[in-house]
Parts: sequence; structure tokens; C-alpha cells
Amino acid sequence: MTESEPSNCSAQMIQIVLEGAREVLDSAELAVLFETAGVQLPGAGQSFNGGAGDVRLLAAALDTRYGVLGARGAAVRVGQASFQGVVRAFGSEGGFEAEEYRLLPVRKRARAGLEKLAAIFYCACGIKVAVTAEPDAWLWTLADCEYCQDPRIESAVSHFMLGLLREYLAWSSGGKVFQVEETACRANGDPNCVIRIQRLPLD
Ligand SMILES: [Zn+2]
Repeated sequence: MTESEPSNCSAQMIQIVLEGAREVLDSAELAVLFETAGVQLPGAGQSFNGGAGDVRLLAAALDTRYGVLGARGAAVRVGQASFQGVVRAFGSEGGFEAEEYRLLPVRKRARAGLEKLAAIFYCACGIKVAVTAEPDAWLWTLADCEYCQDPRIESAVSHFMLGLLREYLAWSSGGKVFQVEETACRANGDPNCVIRIQRLPLD
């Protein structure tokens, strides 16, 4: 992270992710995870002062503790648990509360919301996401993500996003379940990670 990045935005995001992690993992487990990473766990209500390096260590610790699949599952659940915090913190700025957003027809609203979330991630994490459309799906492409060179961070980031997007779609559709999956991944040699979101809900 450089000084010119909007650090407020990112500190707030790290705080939200930490709250999400507190919801998903019990506090003893969270403490062990931070200990494994060698990162100081802030007390409840305290803010996290670490930087990108600490996030890297935590992503690696997640992998060490749970294995690749377990770490992915945990990242998805933390993403789901963090969505409400993201809307609370960035929602009015991002336009989730604007009348013109709320009055859009359902499909246009879903797409507009994906773009708002992409803008939030750019502000908070410096990760550029491109939102594009296919006839029956939206594609969420991590176009520029410097952390994604490291497959452990890449996996934590993309699975966190996957969980957050699932929760967003459930929230914006009144509780429906959508198929959201990673269809291309840098860790597998693809040029970018791509998350595919089916437009129609499963049920
Ligand atoms: Zn990926």
C-alpha cells in the first residue's frame, strides 16, 4: 500500500473483515490464527493497525490452519458475514441508499449494485474489478490485483469476494440463492480470476 491510496477507506475495510471473521470463527480460533500469522490481534472495539503485509501473513496462516479447501470455505463465510458491514460503512457513499438505485428494476439494480461494490473494492483495497455481462450471467473479473500474485492471498481475496457477492445477491433479491462461482483463476494459470454470477436465482 502506498501513501497516496485512500487509507481511511482501507482501514475501515480491514475493520469490517475483522468483524466478519469474529462472527465466523470463535474468538479462541481467531486468536490462534493471528498467533500462527505472528500478527497482533486487536481487542474488540480496537482498530487494526496492520498493513498489506499482515493481510498476507493472515492469508498464509488461514492456509496453514485449514488447508486449501478449508481456507477457501472460511474466506467465503467471512465474505458473507462482512457484507452487511460493507453496506453500513460504504453504502450511502456507494449509492446503495440512493432513491435512483432503489427504484431500478430488479435486474438493472443487481448490475448497478455489482458496479458499486467494484468501486468500493477499488477504493478500499486498490483492486480493480471489471463488471461485464453475458446473456445469462455477469462476470466479475479481478482485472488488476497486486496481491493476487501470491496464490494464498489470491485465493483468500477471490473467495472472500465470492461470499460477499452471494450475500449481496441474496440481500438485493429478498433472500434468493444465486449461483456464484469462480470460473477462471490466476492460481490455475488463467490471466485473471473471474467470478461468474448467474442472473437467474436457483429457486
Ligand atoms: Zn482466483
